[in-house]
Amino acid sequence: MFVGHLALALAAKRAVPKAPLGWLMAAVTALDLLWPLFLLAGIEHVRVSRGATAFNPLVFDSYPWSHGLLMALLWGTLLAVVGRSRGLSPRICYWLLGLVVSHWVLDFLTHVPDMPLWPGRSPRFGLGLWSSIPGTYVIEGAMWVAGIVLYLQGRRATRWIGPLAFWSFVLICTAMWATGPWSPPPPNERFLAWFTLVGWIILPWTALADRYYAPTAGEPSTHGSSGL
Ligand SMILES: [Zn+2]
Repeated sequence: MFVGHLALALAAKRAVPKAPLGWLMAAVTALDLLWPLFLLAGIEHVRVSRGATAFNPLVFDSYPWSHGLLMALLWGTLLAVVGRSRGLSPRICYWLLGLVVSHWVLDFLTHVPDMPLWPGRSPRFGLGLWSSIPGTYVIEGAMWVAGIVLYLQGRRATRWIGPLAFWSFVLICTAMWATGPWSPPPPNERFLAWFTLVGWIILPWTALADRYYAPTAGEPSTHGSSGL
């Protein structure tokens, strides 16, 4: 799953309006941001195989350190601790933990049974939404639209730079996601890992957008709050 994860961060902003969007995005994408680092380090493995699933040409041979449920809990706790040390409220930090773990749940829905629980010998799970292109478009697309609407309903732009950053982010992510099944597969694992590292740009990008949106009804702005 890709934009479905991002949708959850946008929707979460509605529930915890004081949470900086960059932090919420860091939470929902944490496992996918770590994954290319572990691929490049050689401790996780993926194969490019055209037709692996209808929506995605990747065979996830091993990724327990980034995508195991146990590690998701650990990464979530770590992000929450870092967030707390940067001055985020305990409530926001619990949300960060939950959103990191939500990544495992959404990938469980999407992937074929390759989602481990822990490193080592672990059973692997997955409901395989990616075996259906229409199913993926409908379910993930609906989540994406709902996330965008929920975020925008509670906020108004304070400067033109907000909508510019927000809508360019939405447009590029939508294009990358929607054209996925029709794009040529990456040439090899190493290329894929380097390309996936670009995903880190989501954090400053969405943080920038969020900085120039203010709540519509009486909530204090996150402008100037810690970091992302
Ligand atoms: Zn993932």
